[in-house]
Amino acid sequence: METSVKVRTQMYIDGQWTEACSDAKSTILNPATGEVVAEVAYGGAQEAQQAVEAAYQAFPAWANSTADERAAILRQIYHLIIDKADRLAEIMTLEQGKPFEEAKGEVLWGAEFMLWYAEEARRVYGEIIPPSGHRQRLLVQRQPIGVVGAITPWNFPSSMITRKLAPALAAGCTVVVKPAPETPLSAIALFEIFEQAGLPRGVANLVLGDAQEIGSVLVSSEKVRKISFTGSTQVGKYLMEQSAKTVKKVSLELGGHAPYIVFNDADLDLAVDGLMINKFQNNGQTCICANRIFVHSEVADAFTVKLVEKVKGLKVGNGLDPANQVGPLIHQQALEKVMEHVQDAVSKGAVIVAGGQPLTEGEYARGNFYQPTVLCGVTPDMKVYREETFGPVAPIIVFNTDEEVVQMANDTPYGLAAYLYTRDLARTMRVSNELEYGMVGINASTLGYVQAPFGGIKQSGMGREGGRHGLEDYLEYKFLNLNF
Ligand code: ADP
Repeated sequence: METSVKVRTQMYIDGQWTEACSDAKSTILNPATGEVVAEVAYGGAQEAQQAVEAAYQAFPAWANSTADERAAILRQIYHLIIDKADRLAEIMTLEQGKPFEEAKGEVLWGAEFMLWYAEEARRVYGEIIPPSGHRQRLLVQRQPIGVVGAITPWNFPSSMITRKLAPALAAGCTVVVKPAPETPLSAIALFEIFEQAGLPRGVANLVLGDAQEIGSVLVSSEKVRKISFTGSTQVGKYLMEQSAKTVKKVSLELGGHAPYIVFNDADLDLAVDGLMINKFQNNGQTCICANRIFVHSEVADAFTVKLVEKVKGLKVGNGLDPANQVGPLIHQQALEKVMEHVQDAVSKGAVIVAGGQPLTEGEYARGNFYQPTVLCGVTPDMKVYREETFGPVAPIIVFNTDEEVVQMANDTPYGLAAYLYTRDLARTMRVSNELEYGMVGINASTLGYVQAPFGGIKQSGMGREGGRHGLEDYLEYKFLNLNF
């Protein structure tokens, strides 16, 4: 499990690799071993201001480049990411913990956004509208919105950056990225590629360090015209509120509390296999993973037996060992939250049918490991029913009628992803129509596709990433009334 990956540890501002003005550093720990992976530059307001200024200066030339010129660079970034996918994946496993193959899958998926938006950049069409007068033309053209502040989380350290940057750069925007403090190395490795691909200086900048200081510069600067954020609902609300002062556009991809509904006519094997990917990928640390598994009473026992058998077979451990399917949680706090949620559920009557304990012995001793867990008898008074656990816990709730399950599924302030398993077409259409969610998986447990709009409603956020819809978020309309 030895690794020899060498990574830079600086920020990237105005085309220069830069230390923090204060020389401050932050320590990046491997969540599987507790070992120090790197010491990276730790900046704040000053570096954020420099990055905003660089992006602001770079904007006019980038905005006025042709779509083909921008597409050529995005394509080059795509190819370089593919070439270096192993390196990027290893860096990700070291700092984030997810198994190497899963990390590589994320890197490759993240690269696809570059290719998709390289193509989509060429299709930013305007309109000609029938005029009200003679010798008049009403034209609508699309323009890039300006400098974008992109704030990203640690659960998908590579693809959350490319999913924002690809459409932003394709549209002609310039960007300041602030990645999560837990996973700066994946961001740095991407920026090495951006530099190599020939992205002009200042077009994409990377700032590391104090989230509040950097965030406050990004939201308050009049030079920043848009904030794109993926992270917690709490921070998202704060950023939206602060952005109001300069009337910035905001795109928010926030928390979820996905219902996973298994009806009595479902293909149970398909539903179990889907849940295994959906729930245990990234160790349950995704905003679209199933948090409440609603199973019809007639199939609840059969479903649970199948699920428990598979969950007990999962191999947990260091993600650099190819035998392991589930890695550690990101940090001690995350582990404590999972423990608290399970203890709370058990104290209120839930029954642990798989897992239910942290792993602390031998190879697990210095990492943040928790057994993949299934809980039965979950009720609405439990934390697992109300809050995002963000861990490898599958809480099962039994239901009887369609009306009842739709009501329970919608009984949350969140509205990101929902899933339903049924063979009944009428039920599929009725229930997916009634679910108050931005995305619904129907006999399907994956939702992230470069060509489709990913995002939530209610307190799960606003705006969409992916597809042609993802480009819209980075474009303004300009109306021209032309008389001749
Ligand atoms: P999580 O709890 O999953 O870490 P957060 O919402 O705290 O989710 O973090 C997501 C991203 O938001 C990270 O890059 C984090 O550093 C950043 N962040 C946290 N607080 C602020 C803030 N006040 N201003 C700007 N960014 C912030």
